[in-house]
Amino acid sequence: MIDNSIFNNKKVVYHTLGCKLNFAETSAIGKQLSEEGFVKARPAEQADLCIVNTCSVTDVADSKCRQAIKKLRRQYPKAIMVVTGCYAQLKPQEIAAIEGVDLVLGSNEKFDMLKFLRDLEVGENKQIHRADISQIKQFRPSCSQDDRTRYFLKVQDGCSYRCSYCTIPFARGRSRSGTLTETVEAARKALAAGAKEIVLTGVNIGDFGRGTKESFFDLVQALDQLPEEDIRFRISSIEPNLLTDDIIRYVARSRHFMPHFHIPLQSGTNEALKIMKRHYTRELFADKITCIKHELPHAFIGVDVIVGIRGETDELFQQSCDFIQNLDISQLHVFTYSERSGTKMLEIEHQVPIPERKRRSEILHRLSDQKTNSFYEKQMGQTTQVLWESRRQEDKMTGFSSNYIRVERPYDRKRINQLETIRLGNWNDEKSALRVEETGGRA
Ligand code: SF4
Repeated sequence: MIDNSIFNNKKVVYHTLGCKLNFAETSAIGKQLSEEGFVKARPAEQADLCIVNTCSVTDVADSKCRQAIKKLRRQYPKAIMVVTGCYAQLKPQEIAAIEGVDLVLGSNEKFDMLKFLRDLEVGENKQIHRADISQIKQFRPSCSQDDRTRYFLKVQDGCSYRCSYCTIPFARGRSRSGTLTETVEAARKALAAGAKEIVLTGVNIGDFGRGTKESFFDLVQALDQLPEEDIRFRISSIEPNLLTDDIIRYVARSRHFMPHFHIPLQSGTNEALKIMKRHYTRELFADKITCIKHELPHAFIGVDVIVGIRGETDELFQQSCDFIQNLDISQLHVFTYSERSGTKMLEIEHQVPIPERKRRSEILHRLSDQKTNSFYEKQMGQTTQVLWESRRQEDKMTGFSSNYIRVERPYDRKRINQLETIRLGNWNDEKSALRVEETGGRA
């Protein structure tokens, strides 16, 4: 039998980059390690182990990961440095070449961290463990908490699409998920632990249940039937072709699902969508927005867009802007394209110069601000429910309304993790949130 006492009271530091999925997975790793005796190092305390969970969505993400590793190495000179996540899966040798990295673990191996730690001898040759991603079939559930209020539940992993600019399928493998029963049980556990709001996350969550003959719609219905009162679910990013009208209509009448959608568009022209190998047309996307706004006029809709892909001429970008301008949406998440090795898009010759990519990004950021301001201003005077968060800024606290408006009120500790019915007032001084106009009673 393996002696686990070697880990008792060992101090560990976690550093996570990238998406909510990564945060959920770091949490799952943290849980495993704490069960074996590891404790989180306090600020200014030396650590025995550093775990960096990386992202590799762009060049900038890679560079941030390298900087984080180097900084942690300086801060914790004696710690074992373990690097995992998408960057580690895609470019393990590049990570191993960074001075001070002891162990590189791929996307599947990160969940077996204890096994690798037991074997590791600090200062010996660096070790790299990384399975062939195409062989990974197992789904590993995870859940994380960002505030005392909001939980991120991983319901799906990997992606079986092959968008021409994206390396995620190479880093995370094919689409997979747990069963409906297992996933509902994981949500129940988060609620029992105090969650008031659960965000369903994944790489391509609309693909949930594909291997078990279940569907994402089944999951939405099963979660909505949970008997608890005063709980909220949000759907994180979902591909427009997988967001069915049935799901939208069900959410509109549901008990627990919030009027909030996040849908990747990526480009507002069919030519660019074809280059990107996306699974829909801009007409389908526009229909989804119309359906949401018909069913849920107050819904918040966030939309991802990528600027500067290969083949995006000035004309295509302009047409894309015009299309987005006419969509009744609340916010854009703008990403600037960067070349990723191994992707199909590199076969396209036409390149957008870097300064032009930045210019396009700035244009869409400005458009996003206009859309968000206009959405917020239309909601002033509406009655909604806010879940107050624990973060305190000077004498203020904030929370999100059901339709994802950031709301501000004077700090009151008793309100943390409480739902409150309020009326939305005017902008706060920084124009970053709406104030509470009038309290309608505690829920
Ligand atoms: S849907 Fe496309 S962009 Fe999204 S993870 Fe899958 S391959 Fe990447």
